[in-house]
Amino acid sequence: MLELPAHTEHLKDDILAEQQNNNNLENPGPLQTFEENLAKGEFRIQQCKDCGQHVFYPRLLCHHCGSNALKWVAVSGKGVVYSSAVVRQRPEKGGDYNISLIDLEEGPRLMSRVVDVDPEEVAIGMQVSAHVGMINDKPAVLFYNKEQGDKEW
Ligand SMILES: [Zn+2]
Repeated sequence: MLELPAHTEHLKDDILAEQQNNNNLENPGPLQTFEENLAKGEFRIQQCKDCGQHVFYPRLLCHHCGSNALKWVAVSGKGVVYSSAVVRQRPEKGGDYNISLIDLEEGPRLMSRVVDVDPEEVAIGMQVSAHVGMINDKPAVLFYNKEQGDKEW
């Protein structure tokens, strides 16, 4: 167990989370598990076995009830745009793109991109679906506006 001065006691959870998020093959941390699932093309988030709430960003303790009984579950991938902003970028670097906060059907809100719509046209309330794609050569969760028709992913 960590021994910390009393006035830093409240940092213990953060420190433990940081340690477990470091690469540790015998005991992978939540972030590593999340990224390994993405690398397999699977978008999974955590769900608390005690209170039933879904949890994202990956972490050790449920931020609803403090339980450490978190399991990995598949999600529907359905979400709604909560807010959206356009990031301007030179065309030779890939052009403008959009950064959105997406509310998942399961509850958690996450930052991502809606990639099949012009960056300016991503609208609050737009329905989107998650897809595991690549950002900067790393697997990442991206979203498509499903109103544009079914897409084969
Ligand atoms: Zn909980």
